[in-house]
Amino acid sequence: MAEIERESMEYDVVIVGAGPAGLSAAIRLKQLDPEMSVVVLEKGSEVGAHILSGAVLDPAGLDALIPDWRQKGAPVTVPVREDKFYMVGPAGQLGIPNWMMPPLMNNHGNYIVSMGNVCRWMAEQAEELGVEIGPGMACSEIVYDGDTVKGVVAGEFGRNADGTPGDGYEPGMELHGKYVFLGEGVRGSLTKEVMEKFSLSDGRDPQKFGLGMKEIWEIDPEKHHEGRVVHTMGWPLNGNAGGGSFIYHLDNNQVYVGFVVHLNYQNPHLYPYMEFRRFKHHPMVAELLKGGNRIAYGARAISEGGWQSMPKAVAPGVAILGCGVGLVNVPRIKGNHNAMLSGKAAAEAAYAALQDGRSSDELSAYDAELRDGPIAQDLRKVRNVKPLWSKYGLLGGLALGGADMWAANIAGVNLFGTMRHGKSDAQATGKASKFKPIEYPKPDGKLSFDRLTNVSFSMTNHEESQPAHLQLKDTSVPISVNLPTYAEPAQRYCPAGVYEVVEEDGADPRFVINFQNCVHCKTCDIKDPSQNIHWTVPQGGDGPNYPNM
Ligand SMILES: Cc1cc2nc3c(=O)[nH]c(=O)nc-3n(C[C@H](O)[C@H](O)[C@H](O)COP(=O)(O)OP(=O)(O)OC[C@H]3O[C@@H](n4cnc5c(N)ncnc54)[C@H](O)[C@@H]3O)c2cc1C
Ligand code: SF4
Repeated sequence: MAEIERESMEYDVVIVGAGPAGLSAAIRLKQLDPEMSVVVLEKGSEVGAHILSGAVLDPAGLDALIPDWRQKGAPVTVPVREDKFYMVGPAGQLGIPNWMMPPLMNNHGNYIVSMGNVCRWMAEQAEELGVEIGPGMACSEIVYDGDTVKGVVAGEFGRNADGTPGDGYEPGMELHGKYVFLGEGVRGSLTKEVMEKFSLSDGRDPQKFGLGMKEIWEIDPEKHHEGRVVHTMGWPLNGNAGGGSFIYHLDNNQVYVGFVVHLNYQNPHLYPYMEFRRFKHHPMVAELLKGGNRIAYGARAISEGGWQSMPKAVAPGVAILGCGVGLVNVPRIKGNHNAMLSGKAAAEAAYAALQDGRSSDELSAYDAELRDGPIAQDLRKVRNVKPLWSKYGLLGGLALGGADMWAANIAGVNLFGTMRHGKSDAQATGKASKFKPIEYPKPDGKLSFDRLTNVSFSMTNHEESQPAHLQLKDTSVPISVNLPTYAEPAQRYCPAGVYEVVEEDGADPRFVINFQNCVHCKTCDIKDPSQNIHWTVPQGGDGPNYPNM
């Protein structure tokens, strides 16, 4: 294909992704130097459209960034009032008293928020400071100058399905920065490229992930308890996979109901969406939701590797922020505060470098801050929880993980030193022949819904004439390798029903990719056992249109 000519624009800092990490970086840069030129590029149709989090927000990040966020009207208004944790069986549940939980698990002082709305508000704060924000600008390529990251390509539109430029093709622009920040969140496509090119994960444990699915419900006001936070573990996953649920009562009689499945599960017959569906029929949950309305659905991967899996976060000209580095505190299921703190730290490092007349080098002060500052203190203490869960299962992992966190809290030492994460989640997938298929009940259309009906509640949309943004490195692998060996698990792990194996009478099975349904969760890129699926950005503005996720 002929070389594409693009216009370019120069900035001090180019930021990919208007999540909490990218927006915090933008705000901090302009706080430090109002003259600095800063642009934030976001693939969603608007800021917040692709944001999906729990979310119980630890305000530590916001406090550090915008100390007067309350006066400035941040949509952070529902303090946590009740904090409950249950071990769940098929017909009942056992409450674990709060005093048994290590203090760091306490949600006192935290808030139930829509991170989509928090990001919308943060974008307003950034724009008031003079940050340029470009929604609908998917960043599809890194621009290099030799071995230095110089910028990104954003805003390419209008390719035909075969990749050739269609009518009305727009080549997009190159946006060059003295520094480029990648705030793409979990498993970003450009972040992945940069990590591979500069070997940033060498010597670190593999990153681990979970798949989080979430619905927003409007429920009977009688059953609604604003500020209540509920977490569960146990049924229906039991021994098949790690994970658990969250139920957060925000305001306006709305409840966030979410379910996370750790992606290191072995049984390729496991169907995460069906596990979520089954969970909603637990008597405790069914009673809460009965008579209510599901008003939105979505899914997103969550990073779970924590301290051991953090890659080096810098390379010449580029810094990786937030969940690109994997800054989630797994037992607390919290990463937003660290995403904000990482954006702030990267901004401060870039500001100092620019003041010294530097540009396009490694912001090693940022990487050092990640490993020594408040983020490190948050993540180091809980570093063994995930490996203990993986090694000893639910009960053993909970008990030992709890003991390890108590020891870290009281004496500042972890009983188990630093445990390692073994295989990647893709490698953890076992052969289909070694596991029994799992039977899942049918949806009732009241509490539980089939996958495609639910996907319509993500308001996802992709222009059909463009090339599929889900690329197969080898188109034969799904049928020749994954189907016989793993019963092609893409059919099940995708929470949006994008992948199908179609077996029509007498014909060979075909692998079909309904990319229009994709909700950008990134699970296929993570879990495909052959690592054959490469998630890339579709054209800007496509994808889910989440309301207050
Ligand atoms: C189900 C679930 C529940 C969670 N619960 C909580 C919780 O209760 N509390 C908590 O603190 N944390 C929680 N987390 C974790 C938290 O959401 C993450 O830590 C946080 O979102 C990370 O922020 P980020 O800015 O790094 O990335 P993100 O929030 O993912 O933002 C990345 C942004 O970049 C955009 N983008 C990505 N690639 C490109 C590209 N190439 N071009 C342009 N734009 C791009 C995306 O569209 C998105 O808007 C949860 C996560 C999940 C999935
Ligand atoms: S195609 Fe991949 S990224 Fe899209 S929804 Fe399915 S698993 Fe998630």
